[in-house]
Amino acid sequence: MSVLVVGSIALDTVKTPVEEHADQLGGSASYAAVGASFFAPVKLVGVVGDDFPKSEFDFWKSRNIDPSGVQQVAGKTFRWSGEYAWDLNTRETKSVALNVFENFWPELPENLRETQFVLLANIAPSLQSHVLDQMRRPRFVVADTMDLWIETTRKDLDALLPRVDLLILNESEARMMTGDTSLIRAGRSLRRMGPKYVAVKKGEHGALLFGPDDFFSCGAYPLEDIHDPTGAGDTFAGGLAGYLAGKGDGEVDFALLRRAVIFGSVLASFNVEAFSLERLRSLTSEEIDERYEMFRLMSQFEVLP
Ligand code: AMP
Repeated sequence: MSVLVVGSIALDTVKTPVEEHADQLGGSASYAAVGASFFAPVKLVGVVGDDFPKSEFDFWKSRNIDPSGVQQVAGKTFRWSGEYAWDLNTRETKSVALNVFENFWPELPENLRETQFVLLANIAPSLQSHVLDQMRRPRFVVADTMDLWIETTRKDLDALLPRVDLLILNESEARMMTGDTSLIRAGRSLRRMGPKYVAVKKGEHGALLFGPDDFFSCGAYPLEDIHDPTGAGDTFAGGLAGYLAGKGDGEVDFALLRRAVIFGSVLASFNVEAFSLERLRSLTSEEIDERYEMFRLMSQFEVLP
């Protein structure tokens, strides 16, 4: 089954203590769509300006990402720039220019409205709801968000949550939304706000998954060299949603979700090995399976007979 991905498509300028790259492909939907495409066909919804490279459309098509929901309009593509501190964990947003995003209020093409799995990647919650309004009974809806929306459009976010099956957010956002320092209590409170499942990302410390009766915790892949953490969360969400859509039988249960969290973590770990989407462009399914196997071995703590 396919997954519809809506979110930002950006040209990012990213600076780390050792490197800087300008105007490279970024945006929550770009990372999420490519992450998901390793497991399922993707339908991408977003907006770009007339400065957006045509070669990216060819790249999407080569990865089984249908860009018919991407509008190209006159004006400049959304631009974001950020700078990382020496630990590559703390990031400061240097500038944001919404550009063509400012007036983006998509009408989905008919053929996209039947898509069974939906990933609402990070964008304004009102836009996420607007896309969801146009879908016909999707089987499973995943939503990501960020601190900006929790601080500025909390009502819109609260209205979206009961319509979401899985909410993904990072640990500081989970604490911010619930006012609770305990991530375990925060995960449970977030579920009471509407989503059936909640995934809390803890960066280099892994992820937590909360369900109605179950709890799952996993570590992150131990990487020595991180070049650019941008988009790790979006790639995690994309890999996870793609796995649910492409590898299950359409029904989502906790066992499938546990594996999806690991595949999401595997994809995110590859993404941070290079700037922009460079590592995802060359990534193979064999490399993904190899790292998944490493996760399996690393999380075993009893010696098997
Ligand atoms: P992450 O590292 O997972 O937080 O995602 C970084 C990506 O989010 C970058 O590629 C940005 O282009 C994109 N981004 C940054 N700010 C926003 C925003 N306000 N809305 C949507 N996407 C954004």
